[in-house]
Amino acid sequence: MNLENVFKNNEKWIKAKLSEDGEFFDELGKGQNPELLYIGCSDSRVTAEELMGMGPGEVFVHRNIANMVISIDLNVMSVVNYAVNHLKVNHVVVCGHYACGGVKAAMQSADLGILNPWLRNIRDVYRIHRDELNDIDDEDKKYDRLVELNVQEQCVNLIKTAAVQKAYRDRGLKVYGWVFDVHTGKLIDLNIDFEGILKEIMEIYHLD
Ligand SMILES: [Zn+2]
Repeated sequence: MNLENVFKNNEKWIKAKLSEDGEFFDELGKGQNPELLYIGCSDSRVTAEELMGMGPGEVFVHRNIANMVISIDLNVMSVVNYAVNHLKVNHVVVCGHYACGGVKAAMQSADLGILNPWLRNIRDVYRIHRDELNDIDDEDKKYDRLVELNVQEQCVNLIKTAAVQKAYRDRGLKVYGWVFDVHTGKLIDLNIDFEGILKEIMEIYHLD
């Protein structure tokens, strides 16, 4: 890879944007008003804005290994709080993907050093859904299902936050769980029952 090309590509991109809209960068410089918070995996194949056909200014993005929402991770919690409370996004998406290396690593018995505490959160998802997962004989299908269940549990983790609970009550914010299929390019809506989960967990996790 020649990094010189990055700057040449950037020049071409600027020209292309300006030929579509001469004011593009003037508008971009005025500030951001995205309506969507996207929490995805750091995997280089899952490109956030590009796979949704969106561009600069349209999505607030957070990516980490295996699209995790961990309540003591200051990074993801700062992103959620800023996007929900200050940017006032009304849609929060957790987007996982099939063939996720983070999820795969959590299915194996190996000491991965500093990654252990991070991946332990995915092992917890496995434990919660052990009966369903152990009933799946095909290893690939089990892996795909764990990817989906991990997305679902990260949505649950979002719903446990005060920011999401308050924004739901005040302006109807919603949480969505999606999976990107790297084999076909298709984005799949898992149709997470946001209101059902919210109602069910409020008994214990009600904060606001
Ligand atoms: Zn991944």
